[in-house]
Amino acid sequence: MIKIPTKVLLVDDEKDFIEMLSLRLTEVGEKITVAYSGQEALDTLEKADIDVVILDIKMPGMDGIETLREIKKQFPLVEVIMLTGHGSTETAVEGMKLGAFDYLMKPADFDDLLLKLEGARKRKDEQQERIRKAEAKLLVRKSGGIFS
Ligand SMILES: [Mg+2]
Repeated sequence: MIKIPTKVLLVDDEKDFIEMLSLRLTEVGEKITVAYSGQEALDTLEKADIDVVILDIKMPGMDGIETLREIKKQFPLVEVIMLTGHGSTETAVEGMKLGAFDYLMKPADFDDLLLKLEGARKRKDEQQERIRKAEAKLLVRKSGGIFS
């Protein structure tokens, strides 16, 4: 079976971490883009087609929660998985209330990350499919309901 790669944007100020994670995700067939700050992430989302953002919460400048807020405002269909440190479960909960799909505690277990990535991708695909169907229905109605 041919796997359709998930287009992932990795956002973290820790370069080594991003590079390592990018390598491992590329190895399992995902398509990876990286950003080192919240602003860079938003700029990237403007230009690139992304399915899921893996977003570090603790970053200098625009932090993860602020970035998440902007992502959900500007790109509501993009799913976000947050990366949090120990003791920031509260932030994780806040993020999920703001529309994040889930969170991972750093250092994240790779298999766990893959599972959550798959879940996020699935949610995005399903939502897009619902929108596509609703749009098709709208089109039929606008064309005078010839099929009804
Ligand atoms: Mg960080």
